[in-house]
Amino acid sequence: DKGLMWFRRDLRAEDNAALHHALKACKQVWCVFVFDTDILDPLARVDRRVEFIRESLVELDERLRSLAEAHGIKGGGLIVRHARAQTEIPALAQQLQVQAVFANHDDEPDALARDAQVFGSLAHAGILMHSHKDHVIFERREVLTQAGHAFGVFTPYKNAWLKQLTPYHLKAYPVEKYGSSLAPVPADLAAPVPSPASLGFEPSNLSQLPMPTGSSGGHHLFEDFVQRIDRYEEARNFPAIKGPSYLSVHLRFGTLSIRQVASVAYQLHLQGIGGASTWLSELIWRDFYHQVLANHPHVVHGAFKPEYDHIRFEHGKHAKTLFAAWCEGRTGYPLVDAAMAQINQTGYMHNRLRMVVASFLVKDLGIDWRWGERYFAEHLIDFDLAANNGGWQWASSSGCDAQPYFRIFNPITQSEKFDPGGRFIRRYLPQLAGLPDAAIHAPWKANEIEKAAAGLVLGENYPLPIVDHAEAREATLTRYAVVKNPK
Ligand code: FAD
Repeated sequence: DKGLMWFRRDLRAEDNAALHHALKACKQVWCVFVFDTDILDPLARVDRRVEFIRESLVELDERLRSLAEAHGIKGGGLIVRHARAQTEIPALAQQLQVQAVFANHDDEPDALARDAQVFGSLAHAGILMHSHKDHVIFERREVLTQAGHAFGVFTPYKNAWLKQLTPYHLKAYPVEKYGSSLAPVPADLAAPVPSPASLGFEPSNLSQLPMPTGSSGGHHLFEDFVQRIDRYEEARNFPAIKGPSYLSVHLRFGTLSIRQVASVAYQLHLQGIGGASTWLSELIWRDFYHQVLANHPHVVHGAFKPEYDHIRFEHGKHAKTLFAAWCEGRTGYPLVDAAMAQINQTGYMHNRLRMVVASFLVKDLGIDWRWGERYFAEHLIDFDLAANNGGWQWASSSGCDAQPYFRIFNPITQSEKFDPGGRFIRRYLPQLAGLPDAAIHAPWKANEIEKAAAGLVLGENYPLPIVDHAEAREATLTRYAVVKNPK
């Protein structure tokens, strides 16, 4: 009758599947989060995600404590450990003498391997592990083609997803009702949530960013977004304006429930609000990439379409120089450089720009998409293996329902179209701020008077373009000919 709830990518006390099942099934439930050394040790020593998680745990601890108090239980809250989860969870389960551990699914290959280990150790000790779907609306093999296969194309997947949806799938788990099962934290396990410094991390700039943490932060952003969701369709492509929801980090760490946001979006979609339908589609893309990863885990290392693994990307010294210029926003293409400044300064990048910089890396610089994927994985605060891998394989044309390989974004026309007044570029590249709108997308085309008036000296305070787009395009078409994919 005793259980342990293990939080991972579901850092909220409300509408949480595993927490609900644990509280319903057991008389006494302890809650734990492990700062897993297997995950933390390889990270750079400044990482915004560690701070995001830490702040969100402080709030989760408070929520669990007050939920317990509302049911007359004093001393509830979260147990937080800094250890190897693989060994810590079975050890804690035995120390607390629980009969079962509850967690929500995490389908990333490393997480599945870790869970299998934990499952084995627990089984050895006679303890059960229950895991539940929580992170997506439909997972794994829940939405299949009529022939019973996993979908490889988005639109039919989306249609099947919508057809299969019932109110049950969007219903919140009423965790609050079962708060009386929360157990007080034993004195030897009670401790404040550790600071990033005590976990071995140096401070990042997270607290200065407009990135509110925890469930309260997620709710705040969602309420703000619902007010403007009707404009999402037009606004979402322009990085200078507040078009998207900025909820990705909350959906990644589960500080906000996917059921809650999808159910609001679905209601508004039924009412004919176009922006809500488009936004709901984005949530379905999220499910789509999760099922791609679950059903085709080889995408973590290789192309979804194996013939794309025959492409020979640049990898010598020159490629490394070009890659460094991309990472540091020194390509000479303002939209690309401003986008890279955005990820480097904030840990976020606008979706349109993710597509532009990914295409630029692979199809203008000829560099392997995995290099870019890794850079994003290290820098994005919303980094999610399924979505990131899906996005990179889309841009490199190697993925499930990807961009055809001969579609190559032109970084200048993308800039003219999606940042027409150069507002986004000026925000991140102040050295270009004085250029007229017409010249800001390709500063090397500006005339001497314009450059002088703006104080711009190309090659000094802003680079010349590191590649010629037209030449790069031809090289890419040749490089990709090996896939012989006519479509
Ligand atoms: P909104 O436009 O408000 O979208 C709402 C939500 O839908 C997002 O929060 C996200 O959860 C989901 N979503 C939107 N677009 C996609 C998509 N294409 N694929 C999967 N889910 C989507 N998203 C991540 O969450 N983590 C990543 O690591 C990631 N890496 C990407 C890499 C590349 C190369 C590309 C092209 C896209 C990537 N995306 C990733 C998808 C998308 O860019 C972000 O989800 C989005 O920009 C986040 O901002 P938002 O929350 O304001 O989005």
